[in-house]
Amino acid sequence: MADTLATLARTRERFRAFADGEIVPHAEEFDREQRIPSELIKRLAAEGYLGAILPAEAGGPGMDRVTFGALHEEVGRACSSVRSLLTVHSMVAFAVHRWGTAEQKAARLPGLASGDRLGAFCLTEPEAGSDAGRIATTAARTDDGFLINGTKKWITCGQIADVYLVFAKAPTGMSAFLVDRATPGLCVRPLTDIMGTRGSMLAELEFRDCEVGPDALLGPEGMGLSLVGTGALDIGRYSVASGCVGILQACVDACADYTARRVAGAVPLREHQLIRRMLSDMVTNLEAGRLLCQRAGTLKDEASPKTVMATWMAKYFASTAAMSAASDAVQIHGASGCGGGAAVGRYYRDAKIMEIIEGSSQIQQLTIAEEAFQQAAARATPSLSGSEDR
Ligand SMILES: Cc1cc2nc3c(=O)[nH]c(=O)nc-3n(C[C@H](O)[C@H](O)[C@H](O)COP(=O)(O)OP(=O)(O)OC[C@H]3O[C@@H](n4cnc5c(N)ncnc54)[C@H](O)[C@@H]3O)c2cc1C
Repeated sequence: MADTLATLARTRERFRAFADGEIVPHAEEFDREQRIPSELIKRLAAEGYLGAILPAEAGGPGMDRVTFGALHEEVGRACSSVRSLLTVHSMVAFAVHRWGTAEQKAARLPGLASGDRLGAFCLTEPEAGSDAGRIATTAARTDDGFLINGTKKWITCGQIADVYLVFAKAPTGMSAFLVDRATPGLCVRPLTDIMGTRGSMLAELEFRDCEVGPDALLGPEGMGLSLVGTGALDIGRYSVASGCVGILQACVDACADYTARRVAGAVPLREHQLIRRMLSDMVTNLEAGRLLCQRAGTLKDEASPKTVMATWMAKYFASTAAMSAASDAVQIHGASGCGGGAAVGRYYRDAKIMEIIEGSSQIQQLTIAEEAFQQAAARATPSLSGSEDR
């Protein structure tokens, strides 16, 4: 255990050095320019960070999930837009590795592992967000495969992705498809001026009689959301939760620095008790959020089904705590936190997005409460709970 912790600490140091050297100095520019430069994407790829979710036999670095979480925390501390790119790419790579046929893996995984081909996750539509059952995109069967029609909106990295994991209603139910960017009938329209994660190059995708072969279907037909989508969203949620811990750390770092320099009432801000209260909440939530993420990651490494609920809780806690910390961080910085280019202002805008994506806070509250009811019922009926430790 001690060895494992020491190894994790060393690996985290490497992630931190990369984030501090390659991302932090440019994060404000990514936000302002609303893009992540391709040179940085190449450097992320060269480090193996884009294929980090994949095991060695699939061309990835074979990172365990706790280490994967630490990577997404450190990148999230530096820039939520860059972390978002890692998130959606990892979701697609994970789905192909988990549900792909041997042929699909051979065709898709090398490019996704190396980062030569970027993936994007396409579930949301203009009329269907949290309620994914309302999705209207269709995949009609043809003699040679499927004909996809519909519109996807708010797709992270949609502007630059090479392959889209698209959810559409097939004759037997919701199904998942891998659609290449060059597919005729696919139109990519950039979405700009998003409030937060402004560098994450969102797009709206229109599929107009997009013809794909039978090999585009990922996982069993009709099980696209329940299997492929659920698994990918679990990884996405874990990544976002870890990124939110990164936002918390960034808020703590910024506030510790600023309150030592800024003087009010003849003493540095840090000497005021009301300021210390905000800092102490931030630091405590940071530690709690990190522990919840590490628990979710450990359960993933153990292949425990309990990881799903642990990940919901980690994301719910870390995203709401990040929002609260970012709000306090702006408060502590006063007008300096409100000016153009203020890092804490960016954390504030980015944190708000985290309460909406990968299951909004309200959807998480509903899900976590439902789990609480089920656990209570199981405890009240011992035969249902068996000997499992809950
Ligand atoms: C920056 C950004 C990046 C994104 N990237 C992607 C992406 O890469 N791929 C993708 O597919 N999507 C993406 N999305 C979309 C995101 O997943 C959706 O915004 C999210 O699922 C919520 O859906 P919605 O916005 O349609 O809100 P709605 O579902 O319309 O919800 C509106 C409000 O009502 C609440 N609400 C909904 N249902 C209930 C309920 N039953 N009880 C109580 N309250 C409820 C919600 O919490 C929310 O506050 C992105 C969004 C943003 C902003």
